Amino acid sequence: MSERSFKARGLVLRTRNLGEADRLVTMLTFEEGKFEAVAKGARKIKSKLAAGIDLFTFGNFNFHQGKTWPIVTGQDPIERFNRFREDPDLFPYGLYLNELTDKLISGCEKCDAICNLLLASWRALDGGLDKNLLCRAYELKLADLAGYHPHLHSCAGCGSPSSTFFSPRQGGLLCSKCCGADVINVSEGALALARHLLKSSIEKLTLLRPLPGQLEELATINTAFYAHHLDLGEIKSRRLLLT
Ligand SMILES: [Zn+2]
Repeated sequence: MSERSFKARGLVLRTRNLGEADRLVTMLTFEEGKFEAVAKGARKIKSKLAAGIDLFTFGNFNFHQGKTWPIVTGQDPIERFNRFREDPDLFPYGLYLNELTDKLISGCEKCDAICNLLLASWRALDGGLDKNLLCRAYELKLADLAGYHPHLHSCAGCGSPSSTFFSPRQGGLLCSKCCGADVINVSEGALALARHLLKSSIEKLTLLRPLPGQLEELATINTAFYAHHLDLGEIKSRRLLLT
């Protein structure tokens, strides 16, 4: 970004207090990727910026490039997901989606697909979709879009289709002949669910009814996959989830 004013449509991933009265806002935008911007005076009672830069806001924003960060000069919210901040059952899940995205997306890369995925996921969470189903789908899809595609169709060693051992190190399945000690046994049902989550849109997940235990299996393999391949460090909001 050069010395200039610019517009961007995007989502507020994170906000932090800065100095006496400002907020530092982490944006995920269609046009400029992920970046931090300062909302000057946003903590003052009469601030016109404050409501538009709340966490879980999707909108149009204007910026001017400052010396250190872009400065938010205007906002026009399109959708506000206020319920996430007001409902203690929803808040940790919304926070988790944001934190995972913030840690995985590093900078100003173009990320239209990830913006669309997160926006669809905020809408689904707001609409009452099973929170754990949404999180497992989000983990798989986000990793896939970021280029870390888990290999869930056949053995990564020999190609055998009858493979039900997940190897975090390989980032995919192994059959009984190829697997070593560090594998996780996964049911056929949980694998079928994971494949479906990867190819289905978030909007269609309302039709799914996972069997008991399948989401817990996916939580185990997703956690292991992220730990081995994405190196995101601790996801603090994960401790707040009811898995
Ligand atoms: Zn094999």
